[in-house]
Amino acid sequence: NFILAIESSCDETSASIIVDGKVLNNIVATQSVHEKYGGVVPELASRAHQENLIPVVQEAVLSAGITLDQLSAVAFTRGPGLMGSLLVGVSFAKALAFGRNIPLIEVNHMQAHILAHFIDDPKPNFPFICLTVSGGHTQLVLVKDYLDMEVIGETKDDAVGEAFDKTAKLLGLPYPGGPLIDKYAKEGNPKAFKFPVTRMPSLNYSFSGIKTAVLYFLREQLQENPKFIEENLPDLCASIQWTLIEMLQIKLKEAVKQYGVSEIAIAGGVSANSGLRKSLQELADKRGWNLYIPKFEYCTDNAGMIAMAAHYKYLAGEFSSYDVTPLAKMKI
Ligand code: ATP
Ligand code: MG
Ligand code: FE
Repeated sequence: NFILAIESSCDETSASIIVDGKVLNNIVATQSVHEKYGGVVPELASRAHQENLIPVVQEAVLSAGITLDQLSAVAFTRGPGLMGSLLVGVSFAKALAFGRNIPLIEVNHMQAHILAHFIDDPKPNFPFICLTVSGGHTQLVLVKDYLDMEVIGETKDDAVGEAFDKTAKLLGLPYPGGPLIDKYAKEGNPKAFKFPVTRMPSLNYSFSGIKTAVLYFLREQLQENPKFIEENLPDLCASIQWTLIEMLQIKLKEAVKQYGVSEIAIAGGVSANSGLRKSLQELADKRGWNLYIPKFEYCTDNAGMIAMAAHYKYLAGEFSSYDVTPLAKMKI
């Protein structure tokens, strides 16, 4: 089977072709218009999806060496995400599937982040625990099968990606600041400054406290030394990153203990963070876990993961009707 998959939930327009479970390509157009606003502007994101979608699909189809009449199904991200952004991908997928009279497959974006692990080897064995860390979510998910997942813990306020981006903004870094914190942290001392490690009940997270802590800390320091940030950027980044990673690890360790599962995966944009990858690998080696980390291109938003999820839904015969609508909020 040949499936075309579309991703348009936030600010990446992406298309991918999957053939019999093998992802042939993963074309991504990243939107740079948002940089100067310090965050994603929904109206601009929708408009950029409108501009980018057809070229991205054309490139995916062309580079796969197939034609549209070979398609067995069209897949798309139904949610969660920005409504205006989702509408562009959903409308396109519906029109194409309807026009060619082929099945339509809706995909949950958060499930897809996890199923990105099945694009390449090595693949995790069921059941595994996935720590999904992205711009909008932070979840601990017990993955029992390709399409059978249970959220066992999650953030009660900000996502960890948001914490990276918001603290980066306080440091004067452009959006998205997560990758920049990662970059500067490499040259810094993670113990230079101490920020509070928030501990929530059960397996839940809270990441809103750190941005306030960093804000007040910077305010105080800047009063004494207006150059405090420029003089301490690597140490600040390393300390913030260390605190966020520490919070992620505490609950992951608890989840492993509670569920007795030692197959561990990470997913979502923040799993591109080199500090997180390194400390989780050290933790896994120490505790005898099998740790699975996706390739960089499958960590942030991409249609390859949507294609992978669509493949399993195709096999399970899970199709959507042509009057399906997007969901800004959508449970796993
Ligand atoms: P969701 O998947 O929850 O709907 P999203 O799609 O916006 O949200 P992703 O694209 O998966 O999220 O991830 C984007 C987030 O990942 C941003 O917050 C970005 O700063 C963060 N990020 C990307 N690379 C890194 C990195 N190397 N270090 C830290 N954060 C990173
Ligand atoms: Mg993005
Ligand atoms: Fe995402």
